[in-house]
Amino acid sequence: MKRLHLVHFVLAALLVCGCEPSIPAPTPKPEQPGNTETPETPQEPETPETPQEPEQPQEPEVPSDPTKLTGTIIGSQYSVDYNNGNSQSTTVNTKDKVFDGNYDTFFASYDRSQTWVGLDLGKKHVITKVGWSPRVDHQDRVQLALFEGANEADFSDAVPIYIVKEPGVNRTMQYADVDCSRGFRYVRYVSPNDVRCNVAEVEFHGYASEGDDSKLYQLTNLPTVVINTYGAKEITSKEVEIGANVYIISQDGTDLLSTKNTGVRGRGNASWDFPKKPYRLKFESKQSPLGAPASAKKWTLISNYGDKTLMRNMLAFEVSRNVGQSYTPFCHPVDVIVNGEYRGCYQLCDQVEAASGRVEAKDGYLIEIDAYAYNEDVWFNSTRNTPVTIKHPDEDDITDQQIAFITDYFNKMEAAVFATNYKDETNGYRKYLDVDSFLRNFIIGEFCGNTDTFWSVYMYKDAGEGKLYTGPAWDYDLGFENDYRTYPINNLNEYIYVWKGSAASDAVKNMVTRIVKEDPAAKARLIEIWEAALANGLSDLAADLDAYAELLKESQDLNFKRWKILNQYVHMNFQALGSYDAEVKFVRDYITARLTKFDQLLRR
Ligand code: CA
Repeated sequence: MKRLHLVHFVLAALLVCGCEPSIPAPTPKPEQPGNTETPETPQEPETPETPQEPEQPQEPEVPSDPTKLTGTIIGSQYSVDYNNGNSQSTTVNTKDKVFDGNYDTFFASYDRSQTWVGLDLGKKHVITKVGWSPRVDHQDRVQLALFEGANEADFSDAVPIYIVKEPGVNRTMQYADVDCSRGFRYVRYVSPNDVRCNVAEVEFHGYASEGDDSKLYQLTNLPTVVINTYGAKEITSKEVEIGANVYIISQDGTDLLSTKNTGVRGRGNASWDFPKKPYRLKFESKQSPLGAPASAKKWTLISNYGDKTLMRNMLAFEVSRNVGQSYTPFCHPVDVIVNGEYRGCYQLCDQVEAASGRVEAKDGYLIEIDAYAYNEDVWFNSTRNTPVTIKHPDEDDITDQQIAFITDYFNKMEAAVFATNYKDETNGYRKYLDVDSFLRNFIIGEFCGNTDTFWSVYMYKDAGEGKLYTGPAWDYDLGFENDYRTYPINNLNEYIYVWKGSAASDAVKNMVTRIVKEDPAAKARLIEIWEAALANGLSDLAADLDAYAELLKESQDLNFKRWKILNQYVHMNFQALGSYDAEVKFVRDYITARLTKFDQLLRR
């Protein structure tokens, strides 16, 4: 068997390099795909009429695999010569070595990442199977390799057809069926990050066909977001957008959102400094990906690097829905690929902005009490020294009058909170501030245990007589006991904001105290909202957690193969529990304890 396999390899290699085979080629089947035509055999295949008796027991036929594709070898230009001080080479460990049928030869790219090897098949083929074998004794290096197909030579329209989820096996071809109906002229094996390809053999199998888009490939049960930047440029800036084709494959590969000229850039504050980068997408035209309620150009990809459950934001949004906030950001977990490289499990979320289907203040204002306001384009300090960013109207559209108006309104609200008559139903702070949304936001932050609830607070207001509303909830990766500064939350008989929570200003912190601790009417209302939220699903939040854990099962497994941090402290972690399941259980236990504890705090 082994020998026959090798014969097949040799034949394929000869076909690839265009040499005349020195052994008879297997009779080509009519469907034989690949642009490299099987060289005409000088003699006609034996015709059935030949009255020649097949008495001679023939050698067992070479098990020709009519589906194995050949073509022009393409890929990263330079290889590395390990025997010569890792020098750049075009003669040693070259890319043709993955098609030579020899397990002892391999392609090692000179660059450590973003390298690949593949075939130009000459015309479109539907791929049915891929095969791979690692460089001998480097089995790990194929894990997370991605097979892709494309019809542009630069792979700017590439979509995944298979991801290798496990390490390889020495001197063994492993195969996977490919379930993708699109036809591709170009196919490739993209190296996992930082391993220089280091692959001994690669195979593509399939048949010539235009194919169709009835079935594409998803990495897991979650939708796959594919970002192919033009020129395969890495996304390195939070300020400068680069262009990309972005594809979102969902519904088990039967739904495709296909976009071009999508702007991609980095985003986030602390999260931008981690190796797993958060991104912002800006589509050329409005889209509603994954059934999102909003139709909008701007969407975020949240990286959740420091949140090893990968679901804290989603849980907080569940709480936001339970307490009845009028708007909770859309958020759906996805797998992300950038330029052929698997990047991990992310969340595709709304951009927090004033827009239809998002914060309903399109003709009004969206502001953020924000300790980082000084980094923003349009912001002000209130008379009580609270830093506030103006998010909407955005910096290109806002007028001086609008800035003056919202600054003045915020100052009036703050002054009313600190006035002696502040509890007055008509002329107190209720004149400017919508109390219910403020209290709901308080419950979300404190129940979820978010240290930064009052470090960053979104508020919005219409252009007319409307009050300032508080929300939406956003940025909960430090919630649910993921912050060494506030651990252990449930051991303390006080709200987090009083105890150790960070606030954007003393005024903000004191404002919360005056409302939730010192205004009896607000306090009573707080309990009403809490009880309604419990009845509205909050008491069963652990069931939501279990459902998310099930949803994320495959994706988290891949994520922590890419980001091997389950035993590391990252961001504000106070512990590293070593497994995804343990991290989830920890949050589950927190929720159970918090339901009791927070009830006690409210009723003091
Ligand atoms: Ca080889």
